[in-house]
Amino acid sequence: MPQVEPLEKLPEDWSRALCVVAHPDDMEFGAAAAVARWTGQGKEVVYCMVTSGEAGIDGMEPEECRRVREAEQVESARIVGVPVVEFLGQPDGVLEYGVPLRREIAHVVRRHRPDVVITGNFRETWGGRNLNQADHIAVGRAVVDAVRDAGNRWVFNDQLTDGLEPWGGVRAVWAFGSPNATHGVETTETFDAGVASLEAHRAYIDGLGWEDFDPREFLEGFARQSGQRLGVAFAATVEVFPMGWGE
Ligand SMILES: [Zn+2]
Repeated sequence: MPQVEPLEKLPEDWSRALCVVAHPDDMEFGAAAAVARWTGQGKEVVYCMVTSGEAGIDGMEPEECRRVREAEQVESARIVGVPVVEFLGQPDGVLEYGVPLRREIAHVVRRHRPDVVITGNFRETWGGRNLNQADHIAVGRAVVDAVRDAGNRWVFNDQLTDGLEPWGGVRAVWAFGSPNATHGVETTETFDAGVASLEAHRAYIDGLGWEDFDPREFLEGFARQSGQRLGVAFAATVEVFPMGWGE
């Protein structure tokens, strides 16, 4: 079913974004071209991977898989102008939404002090009948809460040592790929960088064993459909969760 509902343009009057996702490759399945656009505008973007995707390749032991996937993610980030990738080392596949996860993410938010926090779709589905993955849902919910936690001096107060301060400056959480997307960002100019960024996950893509999987073709389908809704050739979609009051 073609989506024709128009999207609003995402604001671009910000300077720092922190991306927090469950796995290496999550950013590249839909958001990397947007990141390339923003770093090209001189914005600062940092990646934080909650897990290292170590349970993601059936034919590879987790210890080796962690090494391979972290290296692929660092390269993939470099391609879209992101020099810093943090790995929180939480267990892939069995993440739980809860206070411990919020604590980890709040700490990252306090350290990086972003204007915008970006995560992946954490709705139940992708819009059709395909269910979302449990780690994605846990991380997205924890991100929204952790952004609030980060601004409250009395939540995770033990983190506030060595000059670390609360950070309440996050204007919004953006979840890309959500079936409830309200906003879009044009990716026409940076689409190729997004493809190259996904292609950097070579071992992972090979490990999926998807016959004839073509990263360009895959990304183009979504980007074109989203572009139609924004009135441009290619776009990425985002569900916006405002973090201020009164919206
Ligand atoms: Zn994932």
